[in-house]
Amino acid sequence: MSATGKRFAMAVDTRRCVGCNACVISCKAENALASGGFRDWVVQEVNGKFPDLSMEIRSERCNQCGDPACVAACPTGASHVAEGGVVAVARGRCTGCKACIAACPYGARYVHPAGHVDKCTFCLHRVERGASPACVETCPTRSLTFGDLSDPASAVARLVEHRRHRVLQPERGTEPHVFFLS
Ligand code: SF4
Ligand code: SF4
Ligand code: SF4
Repeated sequence: MSATGKRFAMAVDTRRCVGCNACVISCKAENALASGGFRDWVVQEVNGKFPDLSMEIRSERCNQCGDPACVAACPTGASHVAEGGVVAVARGRCTGCKACIAACPYGARYVHPAGHVDKCTFCLHRVERGASPACVETCPTRSLTFGDLSDPASAVARLVEHRRHRVLQPERGTEPHVFFLS
């Protein structure tokens, strides 16, 4: 929890996602990501046994964990918990040692060509001026819902309250704050 008492989170509606990658492209453009660098990605997963197969498509990114393994592993304090529980990287303090990359169970981090580690920021620079994250704003099927989970009236809190959902690899104990609705 941050000084403001906010706890940012995202709900990803896997029933709405069509795998168009607009979230990936908009993130790259908004955050001027270098070639080959991605802060979000789309997974297509086939479940079941023929002929009873189902496919889930989901947009993934850093889970902004409540107990982030990356922060615990970072030897310099570059990886830290910022406003609203968002896990951030202070570029100037990052030595590019990759300890956080090894510690993250979700493959959410990569090395930027400039030498520091980069990852999803929940677009805090946009959120601070009252806008939604770029991927949320761009998604044509409204698969992505962002907001303050600590506010029971927020759309994200209502979705998590009322819809069936799961987090990725809960057994890791990292307390993800990206919820996949199904
Ligand atoms: Fe899915 Fe929306 Fe991303 Fe397209 S923009 S891949 S529909 S989450
Ligand atoms: Fe850290 Fe990975 Fe959790 Fe993001 S998903 S907060 S990079 S452990
Ligand atoms: Fe990229 Fe921002 Fe979406 Fe994170 S919240 S995946 S940084 S567009």
